[in-house]
Amino acid sequence: MAKDKKLVEAITSMEEDFAQWYTDVVKKAELTDYTSVKGCMVIKPAGYAIWENIQHELDRRFKETGVENVYLPMLIPESLLQKEKDHVEGFAPEVAWVTHGGLEPLQERMCVRPTSETLFCDFYANDIHSYRDLPKVYNQWCSVMRWEKTTRPFLRSREFLWQEGHTAHATAEEAEERTIQMLNVYADFCEEFLAIPVIKGRKTDKEKFAGAEATYTIESLMHDGKALQSGTSHNFGDGFAKAFGIQYADKDNTLKYVHQTSWGMTTRMIGAIIMVHGDNSGLVLPPRVAPTQVMVIPIQMQKDGVLDKANEVKTALAAAGLRVKLDDSEKSPGWKFSEQEMRGIPVRIELGPKDIEAGQAVIVRRDTREKLVTPLSELPQKTAEVLETMQKDMLERARAHRDAHTYTARTLDEFKDIAENKPGFIKAMWCGCQECEDALKEEAGVTSRCIPFVQEQISDTCIYCGKPATKMVYWGKAY
Ligand SMILES: [Zn+2]
Repeated sequence: MAKDKKLVEAITSMEEDFAQWYTDVVKKAELTDYTSVKGCMVIKPAGYAIWENIQHELDRRFKETGVENVYLPMLIPESLLQKEKDHVEGFAPEVAWVTHGGLEPLQERMCVRPTSETLFCDFYANDIHSYRDLPKVYNQWCSVMRWEKTTRPFLRSREFLWQEGHTAHATAEEAEERTIQMLNVYADFCEEFLAIPVIKGRKTDKEKFAGAEATYTIESLMHDGKALQSGTSHNFGDGFAKAFGIQYADKDNTLKYVHQTSWGMTTRMIGAIIMVHGDNSGLVLPPRVAPTQVMVIPIQMQKDGVLDKANEVKTALAAAGLRVKLDDSEKSPGWKFSEQEMRGIPVRIELGPKDIEAGQAVIVRRDTREKLVTPLSELPQKTAEVLETMQKDMLERARAHRDAHTYTARTLDEFKDIAENKPGFIKAMWCGCQECEDALKEEAGVTSRCIPFVQEQISDTCIYCGKPATKMVYWGKAY
């Protein structure tokens, strides 16, 4: 049994050192590996399968709203990046440049896309002529590169996978509507699929995307009380259209500029799943996103009939539409249990000679470790029910944790005390001045996470300067 414990002992407890716990889980659950390419990661099969499920579900939800997928080049000529002033200022410090083609220096250097607004604009300028060409509701699945100084698997890496939606519309109203629609798609996806509750709101001007008129965000809270920006949706107005000359002939035959949006979600969400749901035995995957939902683990496998029965169980569960595997490796059952737990597989089914004799098996939930002895004939149906319950419970638990770590501050002293001693969200009033926002970052170490759509009037004055305030803001330390 000493050997069986090894896998769990190999990870640091989250109470002792959350950052190390995260790194340990990523490694021991075999989600990523190191590579010689500094600041980048190898995403291993267990990690990539999670991404594939995220991608599949998001893509399905996008297409329900009329989104079409396209693919644009990964290189952007410098002159194109320069066209929108705020955008280039925002991204220039972190782009990687290609300067040679083979042995020849390029006449114009090109950056590896950090995001593709400029390429989409260049494309739209050629492709949009008339009101009949609108709207364009395109999305691209790809990787992007940002030359980050410090990196962590999934949360911040120089190259990461994402989707970027880019749309063009005839009117400002339509663009705003699409911006909010996609934010809602992200929010529903997080809650329904990843069991991660989110706060929907608008970014302050300081925190908005480079070149955007407005940035909307969903913010979630990790187990350690830090916030994670989980998806953003930007309304560009006609700023990019003017910089790139994207005009269409309207019904009255006058030329008008289009209004644009963009929105993105990344492999960061795998980091969010780990940090919202994981525990000291490893990863805990919400059933809907789990590549494998059920692991069948035979006990005393060498005994006659056990492996046959385990195979039968696996076949019956697969026939019921569950994603199921059978661990028939030569390892001990205890070792298999800890591996299944480390990898976050939502449910395991234990099946030994005594169970078979009694016509039953044991369903064990990964999150609560609750055991349910179930007749073999009812196993597919009961397992599906347990997975559904677990999905709901995980969302509720995450919501309860977030709510228990959301504080309200009415005075600056109170604000600073919470920021220093109670990790979580702080709700406080703000006057709208960037000076106060900067000061709170400087003095309390927090940033504005969002101006939530659901507002509360906590007091009438700004938490920092005391001037009249009408906006309630969520503040916090963020990844
Ligand atoms: Zn103020």
